[in-house]
Amino acid sequence: MTARDIAARLKAAGVSNPFQESLWLIAHAVGRTHAQILAGDEFSPDEERRVDAVISRRIAGEPLQYILGAADFCGRDFAVGPGVLISRHDTETLIEGVKGCFARDDSFRFADWGTGSGCIAVTILLEFPNASGVAVDVSGEALSYARENAGYWGVDGRLETGGHVSGEFDLIVSNPPYIPSGEIAGLPCDVRDYEPNLALDGGVDGMTCYREIFALAGKVLRPGGYIILEAGDMSQVHALANWGEPFAFDCAIMDAGNFPRCIVIRRI
Ligand code: GLN
Repeated sequence: MTARDIAARLKAAGVSNPFQESLWLIAHAVGRTHAQILAGDEFSPDEERRVDAVISRRIAGEPLQYILGAADFCGRDFAVGPGVLISRHDTETLIEGVKGCFARDDSFRFADWGTGSGCIAVTILLEFPNASGVAVDVSGEALSYARENAGYWGVDGRLETGGHVSGEFDLIVSNPPYIPSGEIAGLPCDVRDYEPNLALDGGVDGMTCYREIFALAGKVLRPGGYIILEAGDMSQVHALANWGEPFAFDCAIMDAGNFPRCIVIRRI
């Protein structure tokens, strides 16, 4: 068995990036560098068994990032696993949104509503050394990933974690669950069967969590403060941008597919 054979198995199973994924999975299974794998060294029978175990999981549809235990967000790795959403590159537009609202040295306080792995909150804290925040989630599992990631990246001194928000904030940021309940069954099976429904299902019209966020902002967001939200479809973009007073649309940021993924709103 060679790395090339493994890539061919992934390819035949419909994995879209089989050569690169085979390097990541083999390296994870046997602790070799990519250079060693590419050099084509033989695997021992024990190593073959370990490689086979991870490849079988991937072929069965488990997301790559759950097998590796980590996902990239803005060029940094974050621990992930069953129970938290895997960060998507589209969500990096939220960080661009924050950079448009605050200068690097500003001191501001934010809430990351539905933090999941904590990748948004931790990235904000790394990019803004004087910021502090609260990572909020209803899932205890998610909060333990968020704490682990904040600790690894050394920002846990500036991040509280918990189930609810109190105090006054300059920013509420969120990638909430926004998929309408009726569309969950039609999602790709690696998402539908492996990622937490709690992080995906936004209720009948997909808007349930947005309503909660705006209600919360009415109480805890200071006038002049920002709400920065990920949107899932065009009707959500319009609804968020036209929420009504005291909230005013500020700008939208396009993702790689040219969809206005990040909506920046200001409290008047
Ligand atoms: N973007 C995710 C997906 O398409 C959904 C994330 C969310 O609901 N916030 O799977």
